[in-house]
Order: sequence, then structure tokens, then C-alpha cells
Amino acid sequence: MSKARTMAAQALALRADQGQPLALWWRDDDAVQPSEPLDRLLQMTAEAGADLTLAVIPAPWDGPRTGRALAARLDDQPHVRVAVHGWSHQNHAAPGAKSQELAAHRPLPQMRDQLRDGLALLQDLHGPRALPLLVPPWNRIAPDLLPHLARDGFAALSTFGPETPVPGLAIVNTQLDVIDWHGGRSLRDPDALWRDLAQLAGSGRAHVGLLTHHLVHDAAIWDFLQDVIALAAQNGGQWRSVADLMEKP
Ligand SMILES: [Zn+2]
Repeated sequence: MSKARTMAAQALALRADQGQPLALWWRDDDAVQPSEPLDRLLQMTAEAGADLTLAVIPAPWDGPRTGRALAARLDDQPHVRVAVHGWSHQNHAAPGAKSQELAAHRPLPQMRDQLRDGLALLQDLHGPRALPLLVPPWNRIAPDLLPHLARDGFAALSTFGPETPVPGLAIVNTQLDVIDWHGGRSLRDPDALWRDLAQLAGSGRAHVGLLTHHLVHDAAIWDFLQDVIALAAQNGGQWRSVADLMEKP
């Protein structure tokens, strides 16, 4: 067992001993249709007793809209909630800029219409399983959109990293992205992930969000996620539903 993993375990155990167990929540992005990797994720999280938030793309630019097939797959999965993953996950960034669908140069009314449509479409398909939670593709959103989200029906926003308050919205960010996007898209250095978890647990923050992308997981990523589940179970980490965290920002 690595030293970094031991540090993470000790940080979680200390929180539990102090009566302030670390709340963990799990966000997985880019779902559209049922798939074998999704089956694996659903089974893994159900067995762990971990609530799962699936960020679903309403209308992928390069494929059909999500629909009844995914909704039917989730109907017997009471531990799953659905969030709105932008509209089409199309990259509208200027050449050379970081990928972004909700980009600052796009017309605001168009983006607001699409996000409202995305929320309505997912609520129609998923009923109460669909939360008014916006997960911007690539975790980036034009600042000008933020003041309109509450008026357009959203109650919460989830990106990655430090939380910036937005009036009228709960902010439920993720902090632990297991994928090394720029280094082969496999697992990030596990010791770096454990050190991040230890630091987050030691910071006193109430909750930590785990970020995954089931469609691109390789064996190393699945194994690490199983290890996160084991570490949390053995050291007093508590999986929580994002719905609870949205109520207590
Ligand atoms: Zn995405």
C-alpha cells in the first residue's frame, strides 16, 4: 500500500473520529445511451451504496438525442440522479482556446434557450430523477450566463475545482478527476489522487466530488475506483446524493 493512500485513509478516518465524516459524491459525465461501461458503473456504485449523478447530454451534436432507452435503463436504479450536461457538447471555443460549449462569444438568448430545452427534455424523460443541476461541458461556462441560470429553472451548478458563489444557485463542484486527459487518458498518477484526497479531507470542507467518464475508463481506472470505494468504506467516508448537497450549499 502506498504512503499517499495511507495518508488519505488516515485523513478520512480522522474526520470520522472527529464526528465530521467527509461526504463524498460521484459525478459521471457524457451519458446519452445505455452501454456496457454504464452497466458496470451502475453496478459498482449500487454495490458500494454510492449515489451517482449522471450528467446527460440532451442533444449531442454528433448523434441522436438521448431518449427513452437511457430512462428505461435507469428506472430500477434508485441511487441515480440525472444532471443537465449542457445542450449538445459541441465545442464553440475560438481556435486555440480551451474547449467550451457555453462560450462567452455566443449569443446569450441562444444558450439560455438551449439550456432550458435541455432541462425540460431530461425532466420529461426522467421525471424527478432529473435535477435542476447544470454541468457545463468541459466544466466551463460564460460568466454572463450565471445570473440567468436561476431564472431559467436551475437550482445548482457543478464544475471542477474552486467554488465561486453565484446568487440563487447551490455550487456543488467536483475536485477529484481520475483521468489524465493530457497524458494518454488513462488513470492519473494514483499517488497524486490520494494526496489530493488527503488534502481535501484535511481542509475541513464538507464534501468532495469524484469525477468520472465511464465511456473512456480502462482497467486501471475501474480498479482505482474500486479502491476509492474500499478506502471510503474502511475509513468512515460517507457517500451522499447530490440532491442533499444542493439543499445545503
Ligand atoms: Zn462532458
